Amino acid sequence: MTKKDPYIALICTHCEFFKEDDIDLECAAFKVLKSMLQRGVITPEEIKDVLG
Ligand code: SF4
Repeated sequence: MTKKDPYIALICTHCEFFKEDDIDLECAAFKVLKSMLQRGVITPEEIKDVLG
């Protein structure tokens, strides 16, 4: 998993806990958001609206 991973780029790069060398760690919120995005429950645009 790298910063080029679309989910990392969309979510984690806005997170104050994000560290490039800890990319194997996934918090519960990340897992939930990734699952919701994959199932089409939410859209990337909605994430961008919240995170700016
Ligand atoms: S996995 Fe969670 S805590 Fe870690 S950078 Fe992403 S959103 Fe932040």
